[in-house]
Amino acid sequence: MTPVLHVPAFEDNYIWLIRGAPGQVAIVDPGDAGPVLDFLARERLTPAAILCTHHHGDHVGGVQDLLRRHAIPVYGPARERIPGLTHPLAEGDRVRLPELALEFAVLDVPGHTHGHIAYYGAGMLFCGDTLFSAGCGRLFEGTAEEMYRSLTKLAALPPDTLVYCAHEYTAANLRFAIAVEPDNAEIRAYQREISERRARGEPSLPSTIGRERRINPFLRAAEASVRRAAERHGGRRLAENVNVFAELRRWKDDFRG
Ligand code: ZN
Ligand code: FE
Repeated sequence: MTPVLHVPAFEDNYIWLIRGAPGQVAIVDPGDAGPVLDFLARERLTPAAILCTHHHGDHVGGVQDLLRRHAIPVYGPARERIPGLTHPLAEGDRVRLPELALEFAVLDVPGHTHGHIAYYGAGMLFCGDTLFSAGCGRLFEGTAEEMYRSLTKLAALPPDTLVYCAHEYTAANLRFAIAVEPDNAEIRAYQREISERRARGEPSLPSTIGRERRINPFLRAAEASVRRAAERHGGRRLAENVNVFAELRRWKDDFRG
């Protein structure tokens, strides 16, 4: 299994370092260079590439500082403005990193931002702010339709795919998931597991696609219980799964768990 290291940044961001032999890493979404440079020096690692999922500052803010120290390629969405971008990407492109013996497929996952992409390969998914464990990104630039289609695309990946999200939001997301599905025993079991892991100072991530399909309300709009909860909250019948998704997203936007 490819080792993936985490560098915490800001309040709740994770900058993922995908490790290849010998001592080389790809850096995913470096919002801040300082903690990454410290980590690389401490662990004697050399960066080989930067992979960005979308243009928000907490994901690209450290790119220029990293480039000042290391001349490495920057991969990112073709449709967004990414500092230092050398390899503009869109769905269907592949990222080949021979230094890391890794290859990723690029998926377009608009919704949080217009050009948001995800990287999928070697049984791992780096999905930025599109899919969170038990949650999903806010709709800053895209529509509910776009985001629902993006999440459906990610949900169709193999169930054992490891999901590396860019934020530690799992505990708060699970409080919302329980409000939507109070009778889903797996959500409660997962909540216990996560609170133990967090108490030990470990990240809640990675999750898996299979788990997310069982506990993430935003991937479960087709479930009767989730539809009923969304209709109760919205006070109206919801015709399509995408309408259920849109109601869940609105509900979560002002949910105070
Ligand atoms: Zn973002
Ligand atoms: Fe973010």
